[in-house]
Amino acid sequence: MNDRPVSLVTGAGRGIGRGIALELARLGHAVVINYAGNMDAALECLQLVREAGGDGITVRADVSSTEDRERLVDETLGAYGRIDLLVNNAGVAPSVRDDLLEAGEESFDRLININLKGPYFLTQRVARRMIRQVQSGDVKAFGSPRIVTISSISAYTASVNRGDYCVAKAGLAMMTRLFAARLAEFGINVYEIRPGVIATDMTAGVKEKYDTLIAQGAWPIRRWGEPSDIGRAVAAIARGDFPYSTGEVINVDGGFHLRTL
Ligand code: NAP
Repeated sequence: MNDRPVSLVTGAGRGIGRGIALELARLGHAVVINYAGNMDAALECLQLVREAGGDGITVRADVSSTEDRERLVDETLGAYGRIDLLVNNAGVAPSVRDDLLEAGEESFDRLININLKGPYFLTQRVARRMIRQVQSGDVKAFGSPRIVTISSISAYTASVNRGDYCVAKAGLAMMTRLFAARLAEFGINVYEIRPGVIATDMTAGVKEKYDTLIAQGAWPIRRWGEPSDIGRAVAAIARGDFPYSTGEVINVDGGFHLRTL
């Protein structure tokens, strides 16, 4: 019998997703660690989750696949019978940063499928389940279920060498607003976290560029973001610290979003 809150975190094997999984583990959650192909990273994350006070399972599933999303939810429910928190974190950068006037449809389709369509329909599926959970009165122990989506400063920042990424992330911003509006009547709050530049495999290839930008003061807090910075924001949501906020954007970006003069 599971007596822990259950969090489903997509793309949790490494990077930001791992940072989120570890902070949820510190709150004692059972964490479903979804990954796409890197099983070693996912198993290592599970070990760290257990050491941090949580528990969990790993589930390989491609969030862009309908069948995989279905299986991901089924395996979560099979293991724990409930979902208290969904974190849509899995995402990819374009394989090549191509100029807006040249970039092709293949990259666009890949990014939209993984970064936008996947979380959109996973959220739909999980939300239906959460509604049943709420309607059966199964909220007493852990409070109402919640949903968090990890977007990016790219949701509003025009980078003309990765238009596909920006469009997908802007879509996630509207997705958050839509589900927030639809799910409020069930007590299910929905949030968007917008990371700035975070030190992970995704940004490893452009490290020098960002080192220089940070030194030049491109954003007020002059350091790289860490996966734990995002994890701690998710943990605050998981604790229920924003009960009267939904559809809210939480910027975790070192102040990048500020306009200064
Ligand atoms: P990362 O280090 O490249 O890790 C990506 C994670 O997503 C991995 O666990 C990977 O699984 C998983 N993944 C990739 N494609 C998937 C798919 N189709 N289905 C399921 N899982 C998949 O990236 P990250 O930097 O942690 O980024 C995590 C999220 O934060 C992304 O949505 C990204 O856009 C966003 N973000 C990142 C930054 C940044 O500066 N790093 C800034 C803003 C927003 P495997 O390990 O199995 O490959």
